[in-house]
Amino acid sequence: MRFRLLLVLMAIDKTRLNQVVQSAGKSLTKQRCVIIETLAANKLPMSAYELRDQIKKITEQNLNISTVYRVLDFWTGLGLIHKIESANRFMVCSDEHHHQFHVIQYCTRCENVTESCELASQVKMEMSHEFRALEIQVIEIQGTCLDCQANTGT
Ligand SMILES: [Zn+2]
Ligand SMILES: [Zn+2]
Repeated sequence: MRFRLLLVLMAIDKTRLNQVVQSAGKSLTKQRCVIIETLAANKLPMSAYELRDQIKKITEQNLNISTVYRVLDFWTGLGLIHKIESANRFMVCSDEHHHQFHVIQYCTRCENVTESCELASQVKMEMSHEFRALEIQVIEIQGTCLDCQANTGT
């Protein structure tokens, strides 16, 4: 039961991917798929190099690092992958509603990252109407997660 739940959490919704990609007038290539799926299966955010190495290990595909960056750019542009600027790492968006704003809480100790849909809607609501924000905005909040807070001093 637990195992099944884990699989569901890790699986990426292909139908949704297809919808987003097609509405942007693009197509879902094999490389685009393998990169977002590998990233989604990883618990922690990954750097482009880690992603490349992981793909090589699992699929034996040898992707050029510039290809990995190009595909990551593609997905960040669509808002389905976020870049954690401070750490130069990437994560799959966990917001299913396709908001303009994405708020991520990044633990600087264990690198665990959570995305808050609720915070994102609040930012949107509180934003000045005189300011027009760009299409996709990622707001990064750095701090310490609950687990790491509990482990302080041990
Ligand atoms: Zn997001
Ligand atoms: Zn932590």
